[in-house]
Amino acid sequence: MKIICIGRNYVEHARELNNPLPENPVFFLKPDTALVIRNRPFFYPDFSTDIHYETELVLKICKVGKSIPEKFASDYYDQIGLGFDFTARDLQQKCKEKGLPWEIAKGFDFSAPVSMEFVPKSSFPDLNNIRFHMELNGNTVQEGNSGDLIFSFEKIISYVSRFMTLRTGDLIFTGTPDGVGPVKIGDKLEAYLDGKKLLSCWIK
Ligand code: MG
Repeated sequence: MKIICIGRNYVEHARELNNPLPENPVFFLKPDTALVIRNRPFFYPDFSTDIHYETELVLKICKVGKSIPEKFASDYYDQIGLGFDFTARDLQQKCKEKGLPWEIAKGFDFSAPVSMEFVPKSSFPDLNNIRFHMELNGNTVQEGNSGDLIFSFEKIISYVSRFMTLRTGDLIFTGTPDGVGPVKIGDKLEAYLDGKKLLSCWIK
């Protein structure tokens, strides 16, 4: 399986990092070795001093598709969960300045904790009004709503599948709202989908 991540998909987050708004979805990959499940802890790596959390809605792909038209894209995901797109912001900044790829800043081991539970798409009354938030040590630091996405779930699936085949079990991180920030050892992150806790992560 592969993990596809969309960058800059909320206006306020693009602004907080001084990034221009994209004309097309910006995406990158994390390897399967980035995946963390069952609320296992995140071990702070020795190559960064500025690991940031980004809390994101995650789509689970349910069938194989290539060059999927936008009007059929909703058939290709069936469940929605939550994930943390852990980012070594210090390394990412250096990569950006030099125009280098982001893998060392985004694709390192344990950089993608994902909720064990995914919610069936059919159980949401409105897919354009999915609320989520993240509490850092009990304080809400990020709040998002799928209605604020620059590129919709369907647009993302259609665009990404022009370049790479989507397979059953692939995950798509759909971008973070504003409020990203650093973690430190001892922090506890808890992410909620429509008020229900789906994901937690201790920083060790
Ligand atoms: Mg992200």
